[in-house]
Amino acid sequence: MSKLPIKNELGFFEIRLESIGGLGAHLAGKMLAEAGVLGLGLNGAHFSSYGSEKKGSPVKSFIRFGEGEIRASSPIERPHIVGVFHENLFKTIDVANGLYPDGVIVVNTTKTPDEIRERFNIKSGTVAVVDALGISVEEKTRVNTAMLGAIFRVASFLDPESMRNVIRQTFEEKYPKLVDSNIRTFDRGFNEVQFKTYEAEEGAVAEYVRPKSALGYETQPIGGVIINPGNSILKDLSSSRQGFLPAFEQEKCINCANCDFACPDLCFVWEEKEDKKGRPQMFLQGIDYQYCKGCMKCVAVCPTGALTKVREVDGYADEHRVPHQFVLASN
Ligand code: SF4
Ligand code: SF4
Repeated sequence: MSKLPIKNELGFFEIRLESIGGLGAHLAGKMLAEAGVLGLGLNGAHFSSYGSEKKGSPVKSFIRFGEGEIRASSPIERPHIVGVFHENLFKTIDVANGLYPDGVIVVNTTKTPDEIRERFNIKSGTVAVVDALGISVEEKTRVNTAMLGAIFRVASFLDPESMRNVIRQTFEEKYPKLVDSNIRTFDRGFNEVQFKTYEAEEGAVAEYVRPKSALGYETQPIGGVIINPGNSILKDLSSSRQGFLPAFEQEKCINCANCDFACPDLCFVWEEKEDKKGRPQMFLQGIDYQYCKGCMKCVAVCPTGALTKVREVDGYADEHRVPHQFVLASN
């Protein structure tokens, strides 16, 4: 009897993890593949794709299981399970792209399955939600083992005990103190995930839209102008935040601009007004959270406590954002 509950036409069961650098998706993919191979005797393949190796850049990790030889090493376009390590990735990436109509999407979020389904227009399949960030903050670990717990719960053919063994082997030599907390994180992800299944329409198929480059040899402006460099007005860095952001209290601010010097992403918004003696002075108005990646450099240098590190709750950034008024953007 097959150990895999379902296979594609090549005989594989495929999982894709969508994440950003720093959340441990690559390691999670590696451990997941190991657990399938060592625990179930499956053949497995794993690799990740990412751009520059830095925190905050998009990462995809691919895990392929099979009972025969695995010769394919292509990115997974039609996964049976997608793990979304950061909810805001939905803003910039079609994370559910290619997911089978009866597939499973596991999202790190505090929302309900119905809310996630509606917000991200998921037509059918199983939507699983787990507050992996909350668990990892409490356990002082990373979201990756909590996400693995949730994935093991929805992929019930996988053996949780084999993952606990892989966690032990991964951490015990270099970081023995992290073994127990990571196993607790895994177990909490496993136990705390909630999921709901939505029936697929008859005849529904997995639709994958291969992303096209915005600029290619036919569309690049003459002279090779880069129209969206680094942190331009088009960038949205909110998916780089890992659950925390700086909160600003204007009453405590002395407008020293330390935060502005420290911020690598031009997040602070100023306005010229008159001081008490009628002289022109720049006053800090707030933070444009569109560009904030949550590095907390500003909090570290603020001398008055006007900036504090707070857990990001849903809607806070939109509600408290003070947008930049760029001349280029408003013209
Ligand atoms: S946390 Fe502070 S320093 Fe870092 S990007 Fe956000 S506003 Fe800038
Ligand atoms: S570092 Fe603190 S006190 Fe200084 S301008 Fe920034 S928020 Fe205000």
